[in-house]
Amino acid sequence: MSEGELPGRPEAPGGTDFGRLEAALGEALLALGLGPQSAPGMRETPERTAKALDSFFSGLRTDPEVYLEETFPGGTGDPVVLRDIPLYSMCEHHLVPFVGRAHVGYVPDRRVLGLSEIAGVVEAYARRPQLQERLTAQVADLLFEPLGSKGSFVVIEAEQLCMTMRGAQKPGTLTVTRAARGVYAQDASLREEFTRLLGR
Ligand SMILES: [Zn+2]
Repeated sequence: MSEGELPGRPEAPGGTDFGRLEAALGEALLALGLGPQSAPGMRETPERTAKALDSFFSGLRTDPEVYLEETFPGGTGDPVVLRDIPLYSMCEHHLVPFVGRAHVGYVPDRRVLGLSEIAGVVEAYARRPQLQERLTAQVADLLFEPLGSKGSFVVIEAEQLCMTMRGAQKPGTLTVTRAARGVYAQDASLREEFTRLLGR
């Protein structure tokens, strides 16, 4: 995996600069015409929004590879598939959420990853400014060579609120992205089995 491709490597390694962020959010509200007189209910909003953003982007401080440390011997060559992992991420173009489900499969090669670790990998990549396509590829990449599996397959179905809220698409429209690595890239029958397991 190329770390250089990760979005939003923090420029301040110490984490979020809350003072700066709250001041900027206060300025943004003023630019929208929302000040203490016109919007008294929003007095605490810069502080609350700064905390929310820090939480939405907490993955910037998580190295997803830490989840690969908890593996145990096993794996018979049969795929392991986790479906319907809840997914919350933020589009890096508008800082608006995209929300949906991730389905993740891999074929172990004598090394099995805990199921909660798979969900942890998805979350570590999702809690950053993201693009759905890149998120899908990053999870698939990590669960292939760094994990030492025979292959991985990731399908993400998500509603891009920056599209549906602005009326470019009907609400509820799902964007589906897929990334296949290793045996999943080579073997269509493995991908078909994965789709069957999803009940689609
Ligand atoms: Zn967007």
